[in-house]
Amino acid sequence: MIIFEKIKETQEHLEKIKSKGLSIGFVPTMGSLHEGHLSLIREAKRENNYVICSIFVNPIQFNNKNDLKNYPREFESDIELLKNEKCDLLFHPSVEEMYPEPADEKFDFGGLDEVMEGMYRKGHFNGVASVVKKLFEIIKPDRAYFGLKDYQQLVIIHKMTKDFNMPVEIVPCTIIREENGLAMSSRNQLLSKSEKKQASLICESLKMVKIQTGYLSISEIKEMVKRQLRRHRSMKIEYFEIVDMYTLKPLMTWAESNHVIACIAVYVGKVRLIDNVILFS
Ligand code: AMP
Repeated sequence: MIIFEKIKETQEHLEKIKSKGLSIGFVPTMGSLHEGHLSLIREAKRENNYVICSIFVNPIQFNNKNDLKNYPREFESDIELLKNEKCDLLFHPSVEEMYPEPADEKFDFGGLDEVMEGMYRKGHFNGVASVVKKLFEIIKPDRAYFGLKDYQQLVIIHKMTKDFNMPVEIVPCTIIREENGLAMSSRNQLLSKSEKKQASLICESLKMVKIQTGYLSISEIKEMVKRQLRRHRSMKIEYFEIVDMYTLKPLMTWAESNHVIACIAVYVGKVRLIDNVILFS
């Protein structure tokens, strides 16, 4: 696996790859890789001739300094994991390389960023779109792979590529879970053993939501989730929303949409976790 830190050397190398007519699959990450990330790499390997992973902890998408400082970093073991998957190239730029000047582009997501993550993490999606746009411009992938775990991010990136007419296919990938159902996340390693056990309740609640969809009203379902998660004092719901899968507009009744997803953000102790379940589509 080739590892590049500089934009110029990456671009020069990729021009040669493209001149051979090879298709390029791209998996952007913030590192501290787990099976969720690796599933994206495998999907990219299946569908492309050449696979690139980026590892870049993007400071401008963090709205909380401590969150950025505490974000797990495991570069050496990440390299081994990527080598095992036969990833072809790892792009690992520094902050100075990516942002020689402060990023100042302002995106209009047409309201997609006004709910859920966007409401509680001001500026987060502008930071995500800035880095993904820049990475797409450097790498010019044919396909880019994103996890459904970060559902709102996926919808926003999809809109951005359409708005800027970027010739890249955005490929959504299923959520990979721990044995107890907890959605894999780099942040899971910040949980204590008992918190990890409690966190499985998030997925349990979402399973109940799926079972009760259509039987209970949306407000009854919201009450049910609150009641279930309140049982543990270390858990605090930041939001639980049932939204249209395309507009991300919160729904009041089931009749309002035929494409519905339930999304949740929960603090387990100091660690903020997100998860979701598609209810019907
Ligand atoms: P991150 O390193 O957290 O920025 O994630 C990089 C990519 O991996 C994003 O597209 C995430 O949605 C995806 N991802 C993270 N966790 C999972 C998971 N448990 N299952 C599938 N994809 C995931």
